Amino acid sequence: MHEWALAEAIISSTTQIAQKEGLKEVREVKIKVGELQQVELDILEFALSELKTAKFRNAKFIIEVVKAELKCRVCGHTWFFSKNKLDADSSEAIHFVPETIHAYIKCPKCGSPDFEVIEGRGIWIESIKGVK
Ligand code: ZN
Repeated sequence: MHEWALAEAIISSTTQIAQKEGLKEVREVKIKVGELQQVELDILEFALSELKTAKFRNAKFIIEVVKAELKCRVCGHTWFFSKNKLDADSSEAIHFVPETIHAYIKCPKCGSPDFEVIEGRGIWIESIKGVK
């Protein structure tokens, strides 16, 4: 259901932007999804196609996944998170509570569990193309 709520949010904010920009029709929406969000892209795409209004009749939704990038607070090392390195249980835990990744991941350089997520969280609209 998470994906449906996201799709609703995307449609409503895109509609607002389109109104503000005076677009009669939206042709293309680029969406970025952080990897840690672990969204089922198939479901999200399906939800978008079901929820889209007349303004989006000819719109294409392009969804791009942004890799999760982590930065160690101790030594400053940055690296990309790979969920393949985690077992299924850990991966599941991250899905529900992204904050728990601190329990599973340590800096590959100095071993510190104290790091921040600099990229790979959240969902945002990158760009919108339309016709005025
Ligand atoms: Zn480190």
